[in-house]
Amino acid sequence: MKIKIRGLEFSYNSISALKGVSMDINEAEVVAVVGPNGSGKSTLLKCINRILYPQRGVVLIDGRNINDLSQVEIAKAMGYVPQSVRQLFPATVFEVVLMGRKPYLTWKCSKGDIEKVIEALKTLNIEDIAMRDFNALSGGQQQKVLIARALAQEPEILLLDEPTANLDIKHQLEVMEIIKMIVEERKITAIIAIHDLNSASKYADRIFMMKDGKIFAVGSPKRVLTPNNIEKVYGVKAEIAEFDGRLCVIPIKPVNYVSSKPKPPT
Ligand code: ADP
Ligand code: MG
Repeated sequence: MKIKIRGLEFSYNSISALKGVSMDINEAEVVAVVGPNGSGKSTLLKCINRILYPQRGVVLIDGRNINDLSQVEIAKAMGYVPQSVRQLFPATVFEVVLMGRKPYLTWKCSKGDIEKVIEALKTLNIEDIAMRDFNALSGGQQQKVLIARALAQEPEILLLDEPTANLDIKHQLEVMEIIKMIVEERKITAIIAIHDLNSASKYADRIFMMKDGKIFAVGSPKRVLTPNNIEKVYGVKAEIAEFDGRLCVIPIKPVNYVSSKPKPPT
């Protein structure tokens, strides 16, 4: 599914979080949304998924305005993995993933629904914890369960808000590889808000870099992850190295950083 966003504006009361965001996202594309804390990444994902209603602007999926779609149609089109995991009511992992089938359920779940849940658990490699209590899992395990829940929804668009934030490096790589594989196999679109610029560079086809509720730069990782952009957006001096054909961002120091070490006497 193609996504076209035009002039999106959203404010939380007096705080303006999105100040006119426009984006075009292609089918089967992995897009990373990067930017400092508070730049509007989570708000953007929530407006695309209509968890929040933007005050201005439109979101079109395959040419259809999401305002003309029902909640069930939106849920069938888009799966959303939230940034923070709150405690859910007591439920097993299996039950949490089954919730992803909600848009498809009649008054009971079918054999097909159960099969989709099992498939999603297998994709994330978490069948072994299917009967565990969700609330008792580690942050990383919970994150995988929430991704499985979004997959069980069989969406054509996956929205992921910092899916690797709670994970150690092995699980970070695993989750990003799984997302990439799903996108390629199912030809779906993934929009990933992510802090780790090196993961963004490795896995995203294109990067949207946000600053203060606006898109500051967009394009290939090579085009967006430049020392100049990183300094302007994050206030950090960084060097960019190339390793194995991809970019690595090496943060050096904050701009205007004054070392606390005493100066040697002159
Ligand atoms: P990011 O995900 O990039 O860190 P957010 O979209 O969460 O950014 O936040 C964008 C701006 O909106 C920030 O200034 C943040 O403080 C503000 N904001 C986010 N959520 C709320 C909320 N529930 N109420 C008020 N302000 C909020
Ligand atoms: Mg956020």
